[in-house]
Amino acid sequence: MANAMETLKEACGELSDIGSAAAVLAWDQQTYMPPKAAEDRGRQLAAISTIHHERLLDPKFDALLAELSGAALAGDDRLYVDEFQWVRERARRLPSDFVRENAMTQALAFAAWEEAKKKNDFSIYAPHLEKVLSLTRKAADFYGWTDHPWDALLQDHERGMSHKELQALFAGLRQRTVALLDRIKASTVQRDFSFLDGTWPADRQWDFGMQVLKDIGYDFEAGRQDRSTHPFTINLGSRDIRITTRLREDKLLDALSSTVHELGHALYEYGMGLTDPRSPLGQAASTGMHESQSRLWEIRIGQSRPFWRAYLPELKRHFPNTALDRVDEETFYAAVNRVQPSFIRVEADEVTYNLHIILRFEIELALIGGTLSVKDLPDAWNAKMQELLGITPPDDAHGCLQDVHWSGGGFGYFPSYTLGNVFAAMLMEQIEKDIPDLWQQVEARKFGQLLDWLRTHVHSKGRRLRAPQLIRQITGKELSSEPLLRYLESKYADIYGFAAQ
Ligand code: ZN
Repeated sequence: MANAMETLKEACGELSDIGSAAAVLAWDQQTYMPPKAAEDRGRQLAAISTIHHERLLDPKFDALLAELSGAALAGDDRLYVDEFQWVRERARRLPSDFVRENAMTQALAFAAWEEAKKKNDFSIYAPHLEKVLSLTRKAADFYGWTDHPWDALLQDHERGMSHKELQALFAGLRQRTVALLDRIKASTVQRDFSFLDGTWPADRQWDFGMQVLKDIGYDFEAGRQDRSTHPFTINLGSRDIRITTRLREDKLLDALSSTVHELGHALYEYGMGLTDPRSPLGQAASTGMHESQSRLWEIRIGQSRPFWRAYLPELKRHFPNTALDRVDEETFYAAVNRVQPSFIRVEADEVTYNLHIILRFEIELALIGGTLSVKDLPDAWNAKMQELLGITPPDDAHGCLQDVHWSGGGFGYFPSYTLGNVFAAMLMEQIEKDIPDLWQQVEARKFGQLLDWLRTHVHSKGRRLRAPQLIRQITGKELSSEPLLRYLESKYADIYGFAAQ
């Protein structure tokens, strides 16, 4: 048995290496690759992904897994085998001609989406979205489902969860966030944020972000930061976790929040690699758990008052003789946490962000379930924006055409963003208990104990537990949006000067 297990681990390690090789190409594609290389690169990536797929489905695993299935295995080996088997089974469910047709349809849908968004013309995208939807429903049938086809798609991100659980989790969040937003809108607190106007040189933004990366503990000997249009984190191997950021000279804090967000993802990947390099168990518990790590650092730490007490003087040093000279800590903290309903999800503040996600979740269920047709999508979108955020998009480019996800069949993904906030809030309540002087440490720019805590309780667990179970193990509590709501309601009552309820 030891031999079969060793053989499996060897093969899984190799699969992981093939994935890492593809990641190097993908990283280069989005950072330094010259534009004329695009076609070659597309072919190279497709070739590697075919090799990966064939290796994963290699019949040699059938005998190996059969041998291991009834065996008494030591330590985590049973979990290891189960995880590999799940991934392999999932890949096997989709016939290869279906995968090809899907890839082709999505490539065309992506191009149509780009054009439709640019020309602000939903009709260009609609027939493609119809096709993507019909194939996505087919994929759900291949995977199998009982209650709702959307549940089958959720399994890639939040295994074991269902749309019903999410509906229950989001119901209170929806209602109380709308109520909180109403109180914020009614606030009479006046602040002058004009100090943010103007131009902020990219190289100084870069330097400031690098300083924060160093302070928090990003290992520059096991990764690097580069620039890209859309910031991302990518794992090129257990000792090479790279991040990117975006630099916009009209936005002072955009680069920093991207940097710290991706840092959170990278620290999780790095931590998992310490415990389970090249292993199916060295993966995030779920997409939402990954997002909890980025949001914890980006928002809970990086937009906290103690953080800016420590870093506002540093920021002022990076941008001398600017409007920053006249800003005080409280005004700056309020500016960082300004709440304002807006049309675009990726620009949303932390209060309205979850409403953007709930909107997408409800629309996805209706689209996949067949109760909303593609032609009615723009109206349904706009009506929900009005209901949840109190604003109606001026056009579809600022409405249902803004996100890339659906053109690639990415249904079931959006809720992970809000789950990330829910998980992060539950973790933070526990962290504040376990590290009573957390905020004094943050103010002293000391992040080591927090990082150790995350490594011990979250990173080192990898995929041994599903997200809700991991949360229960750490906090002793069932999944709930209550901690997130508690935090939001008290933070914004303070900033906007009303009594917390
Ligand atoms: Zn993220």
